[in-house]
Amino acid sequence: MTEHALRLDALLDRFDAVRHADPHTYRWAHRHDGGEHPFHLVFSSLIHGNEVGSLAGLVAVVEDLAAGRIRFGGRATFFIGNPEAGRANVRFLDADLNRVFVPDLAGSAHEIKRALEIMPMLEEADAYFDFHQTIKPARQPFYIFPWSEAAWLWVRAVQGAEVWVTRNPGQAFASGVMCADEYVRERGVPGITLELGEKGWSQEAADTTYRVITEALKLADDEATGARTLRDAAMAVPDVHFYDTMHRQAFSDPAMALVDGVGNFEPVTEGAVLSRVSSPELKAACTGAVLFPKYPPRDADGNALDPRPKEIYRVVAELDQHPLELWGSGAE
Ligand SMILES: [Zn+2]
Repeated sequence: MTEHALRLDALLDRFDAVRHADPHTYRWAHRHDGGEHPFHLVFSSLIHGNEVGSLAGLVAVVEDLAAGRIRFGGRATFFIGNPEAGRANVRFLDADLNRVFVPDLAGSAHEIKRALEIMPMLEEADAYFDFHQTIKPARQPFYIFPWSEAAWLWVRAVQGAEVWVTRNPGQAFASGVMCADEYVRERGVPGITLELGEKGWSQEAADTTYRVITEALKLADDEATGARTLRDAAMAVPDVHFYDTMHRQAFSDPAMALVDGVGNFEPVTEGAVLSRVSSPELKAACTGAVLFPKYPPRDADGNALDPRPKEIYRVVAELDQHPLELWGSGAE
């Protein structure tokens, strides 16, 4: 066994030692019921198998809840999305789990069966937090999902990241349900994705996950008991900075190649050359920051192997107006 698999198994064993749930529940889920109020928070890690950074934080919260070191009066579900892909240290085994949350889902692929196990838990959420990591390094953690005022209060109050890459919620609707967080938002419930930096083991990612989950539990208790509203808690701390996608560079030619070392949230100015010498020229379409730079495997001639990603990178830029003014509450 690899060191990676041993480390993962040690965390899964710790989770197993304290988890409890009724027998029909998904095998890698823990259910907590504080018995004081019905508010139900759902948290997930490892929806993508090689994004292991958040797992130690989620497992530590479950242990601390089980041991009474932290308390929560409401209901909470914690699940580990794809430990099978995690052991292999790959994003997925058969299909990208975070692309299959569609109505009338059917099939025998590992991730399709998994999505069918996860969906009933997502359907119970009053708010959902999904912890991910990026393929390339990131200058800072960031939230990424369409605007909604209800989600904004959580995002701001839990202080998981200083930036939120968001978009007009009207645009998101047309794309249909595919990600786990979208499946939750489809019901009008906040579904929040937090990207914690480059994929892999990370104390920082684990610490942020622990802090965000425990803060969310506290906020939900305060709201439910009337001690403090979520809105008041959010307004008491600084707002996040909002970014929107300004340009998506199509990976239209397999010869396109980014210069080495471009990470997430790398600042760029309009016209900056991002391509490698002797590959088709790529210039930043506007001033902002690069997101999701792709470095796919290539053949001997330097052409990206199929299937290559649809986009080679995006450029995001800070919004000069608040999304609340631009798009309203984001509710239907
Ligand atoms: Zn992910």
